[in-house]
Amino acid sequence: MSDVECPYCGHDQEVCNDDGFGCSEDVVEEMQCVQCDKYFALTTSILFLYGAVKAPCMNDGEHAWRETNTTPKRCTKLRCEYCDETRPLPEGHPYLEGEDS
Ligand SMILES: [Zn+2]
Ligand SMILES: [Zn+2]
Repeated sequence: MSDVECPYCGHDQEVCNDDGFGCSEDVVEEMQCVQCDKYFALTTSILFLYGAVKAPCMNDGEHAWRETNTTPKRCTKLRCEYCDETRPLPEGHPYLEGEDS
């Protein structure tokens, strides 16, 4: 898999990311083609990936509380699967009266 093509001869180049080379946006790096030995400017574009899901609780709706997978059980919290908000188990929840103390 090649990262970039030489602008002169079209040869596939691999960008070595050692020492942060080619890891910063807005930085122009000098790279030499392994094929034709010409120098060219390498620019970096970092791709940001976002995800968007519906979150009813951010629109005056209900949170979707799920129990966290915590040990011991009595330390379990509830976490909303939409907004990631957490809250303690309601009082009297069976986990809170568990035998592991
Ligand atoms: Zn080249
Ligand atoms: Zn929520």
